[in-house]
Amino acid sequence: MSRVYNFSAGPAVLPEEVLKRAAADMLEYGDSGMSVMEMSHRSKVFEDILDTAEADLRELMGIPANYKVLFLQGGGHTQFAMVPMNLMKNRVADYIVTGQWAKKAAKEAEMYGEVRVIASSADKTFTYIPDLKNLPVSPDADYVYICQNNTIYGTAYHALPDTQGKDLVADISSMFLSGPMDVTKYGLLWGGAQKNVGPAGVTIAIIREDLIREDVLPGTPTMLRYKTHADAKSLYNTPPCWNIYVCGLVFQWLKDLGGLGAMAKKNEEKAALLYDFLDNSKLFRGTARKEDRSLMNVPFVTGDEALDKKFVAEATAAGLVNLKGHRTVGGMRASLYNAMPLAGVQALVNFMEKFEKENGR
Ligand SMILES: *Cc1c(COP(=O)(O)O)cnc(C)c1O
Repeated sequence: MSRVYNFSAGPAVLPEEVLKRAAADMLEYGDSGMSVMEMSHRSKVFEDILDTAEADLRELMGIPANYKVLFLQGGGHTQFAMVPMNLMKNRVADYIVTGQWAKKAAKEAEMYGEVRVIASSADKTFTYIPDLKNLPVSPDADYVYICQNNTIYGTAYHALPDTQGKDLVADISSMFLSGPMDVTKYGLLWGGAQKNVGPAGVTIAIIREDLIREDVLPGTPTMLRYKTHADAKSLYNTPPCWNIYVCGLVFQWLKDLGGLGAMAKKNEEKAALLYDFLDNSKLFRGTARKEDRSLMNVPFVTGDEALDKKFVAEATAAGLVNLKGHRTVGGMRASLYNAMPLAGVQALVNFMEKFEKENGR
């Protein structure tokens, strides 16, 4: 067996300690006589798994009591619809478009009401976060929507927009638990687990109680109402039990290493190592604007497509995998999620140095 350094944007690397724990629990969880995959979601033992996962997440993120934590299915794309169906009371919402995921969310919301794009970085292939001062927030907007870390383009908000009193809704899929955040600044936060939190198949939403409405848009299916899941404590129907259990192991892993402040330090150190190299390289360059760079996703290019291809192939052979950029932008992308060790980033930088020399720079 040999594990590689996996720089995938998602589904992505998970902590080895978590995978080992899950493997040890595979045939029998505790003294339940069965795997978590085989047990009733109504059993006491599973309810404990769910309650512990929620309590640990609340502790890690400092989630106030007036916010609900929901374990949902359907991935990010379902949230693109669920957000407007549940929150678009006035049928108006403002979107800041900083990449493909925000653009798709805005497009989906157009099915339910008027979507106003109040800022965008589409003019420069989403390589930056637009100016957030004096945003033309609509007086009748039900919410302002952002994608806080742009997985494909490697940008992140380092400050939140002034929503002029409107509720902020944020897709935090690719930065979930990468560092501390102030939950009270948001009305609703959600993220698919498969980037930084656990296996694909569970999406976690954190929503302020007053936004959990009865009066959702007509035709909103029962399963797509936040209220359904809030009332049933994420047990309305069979939840993704195994996925929730693995997320719970990741939460414990984060607590053991000192919480999100400690995790943020590690993430900053990892990202700095790669960005410093990129900034001094004669061959490679990062594509995102410096002040808007993401700690999680680092896109870079050589400027020569054939050389990019050669790099990805040789890196793969050296055990540094999934470095190909998103199909819509090309080049390379290294995702440095929580579970990527510093040694993995060091190995990547060493390899890039060697490649640079061998290719005449
Ligand atoms: C991956 C991703 C999505 C899409 O998630 P799915 O679960 O595949 O629907 C949405 N937003 C962000 C920021 C992502 O990184």
